[in-house]
Amino acid sequence: MSELNLILLGPPGAGKGTQAERLRADFDVPYYAMGDILRAAVKEGTELGREAKEYMDRGDLVPDDLVCRVIVDRVDSAEARDGFVLDGFPRTVAQADALAGAVASLGRRLTAALSIEAPDEDVIRRLSGRRMCDKNGHVYHVEFDPPKNEGFCDQDGSVLVQREDDREETVRHRLEVFHDQTKPLIDYYARQGLLRRFDGTRAPEEVHGHIRATLATLRLEEEL
Ligand code: AMP
Repeated sequence: MSELNLILLGPPGAGKGTQAERLRADFDVPYYAMGDILRAAVKEGTELGREAKEYMDRGDLVPDDLVCRVIVDRVDSAEARDGFVLDGFPRTVAQADALAGAVASLGRRLTAALSIEAPDEDVIRRLSGRRMCDKNGHVYHVEFDPPKNEGFCDQDGSVLVQREDDREETVRHRLEVFHDQTKPLIDYYARQGLLRRFDGTRAPEEVHGHIRATLATLRLEEEL
């Protein structure tokens, strides 16, 4: 496969970020996580960050025009020439259309949309127990992956905090937003023959194995 242009779909907390990290290690393509890009913008106090913050804190989506611009620039950058992994984008049909336009204008096409799926109750349990280190974003879970010293990062000793939008009420709202605005993309990509589905309740290694097998099959099909 000459290029690997992948998007990751799925509810918040399904494990998209974990799988994206692994794909990045496997394929050496840049990884663009919209949520990370926006959180960095908020931290730096850029115009994008100032505009995005209130939506993010409420668990609402940031307006399409703001996020589309960011991703279209990334997809069109030199480092993404051989492909990219997008996590958390697109999240609406308008975003998916904008991405399709950007990819087509470069004479390229998407390789696959990987949908990592998990029931709402699992997502709520995973996200409401998630803690992140303040300094470098290392991720823990109070129940499933606790740090050695409660409240502090094993890797850099900085304090662990809960993301504003990981509080249970906000997680429930993010899930509603996912069902209303992002789930239609499952059909959108299925119609285009790009959708591949994975069970996000499985262990991360297992999900990763399934994704690799799927990508290997796609590569074989492309060579036929
Ligand atoms: P995430 O870390 O992917 O869960 O994203 C955190 C928050 O960033 C979301 O709840 C939204 O407020 C915002 N966000 C991330 N990606 C998008 C997107 N594609 N469109 C709009 N808002 C987004």
